Amino acid sequence: MNPENMIANPKNTIAVLKKYDFVFQKRFGQNFLIDQHVLNKIINAAAITKEDTVLEIGPGIGSMTQYLLENAGHVIAVEIDKALIPILSDTLKDYDNLTLINEDILKLDINRIVKEHNGGKPIKVVANLPYYITTPIIMGLFESNVPIDNITVMVQKEVALRMQAAPGTKDYGALSLAVQFYSDPYIVANVPPNCFMPRPNVGSAVIRLSRLEEKPVKPVDEKLMFTLIRAAFNWRRKTLVNCVSSTPELGVGKDDMVRILEEAGLSATIRGEALSLAQYALLSDKILEHRQ
Ligand code: SAM
Repeated sequence: MNPENMIANPKNTIAVLKKYDFVFQKRFGQNFLIDQHVLNKIINAAAITKEDTVLEIGPGIGSMTQYLLENAGHVIAVEIDKALIPILSDTLKDYDNLTLINEDILKLDINRIVKEHNGGKPIKVVANLPYYITTPIIMGLFESNVPIDNITVMVQKEVALRMQAAPGTKDYGALSLAVQFYSDPYIVANVPPNCFMPRPNVGSAVIRLSRLEEKPVKPVDEKLMFTLIRAAFNWRRKTLVNCVSSTPELGVGKDDMVRILEEAGLSATIRGEALSLAQYALLSDKILEHRQ
């Protein structure tokens, strides 16, 4: 792989954009990577080998796709913008291990794609994500039980910090708990705006989410636990008791919630931001018991 010849080389990216008179679509979050050090870091962090089938979300003009095609066995790239399809067919014409799909990733049955192309065996997901839909993409992959080894993605820096945050820190929230219920997050690198064309207005980071083989907690009712978590962070300044009693779906009043907290050895004035995933699982089981 001669860096001079890669699509991600800024000169080559500009040449492709000019050749096709490409107009960037803001609504699709199009910021193409032009830094090959960052691309190498992503490939290494995801530990891509020729044994792997990789799903890439949003290949753009193929800058990251080319790195994936060089290192993986097979790459499935899903791109929403139909203007990019003929460009990708040109920039990646030398590779025979690519399946290109012109679709909205949020509408695609990814389980079916994995069955078709990898016999249902775990895939790796790699992407420089469109930032406007980072959370629905990642939570969609986890919640629909797509067989995944790891997800290595470029996201907005603040979002990466929230995914990795521990209880009691300012970035800790419902997203931290949801991501950590399914995976072990690790921030691989911070990436400044000048690594992209055009430059985004925010800092970025690469984060790897390694899928946990077993869920770290096993609440009786997962849905109830996440309703509790969302309620707890809906009003960050309120105590957990007040958040719970303001959420009718949970079916617990103030006094009962104080009792539940007491039973769990927790203060009646505790806030959601102080609680771990294990404590949320315990409290949701107690709420369920109380309701039955
Ligand atoms: N991977 C390329 C790179 O690193 O240079 C492009 C990354 S760019 C940040 C995001 C890409 O996702 C764009 O190509 C955009 O058109 C595509 N995209 C946006 N929304 C999408 C969606 N819902 N489904 C599939 N692709 C989408």
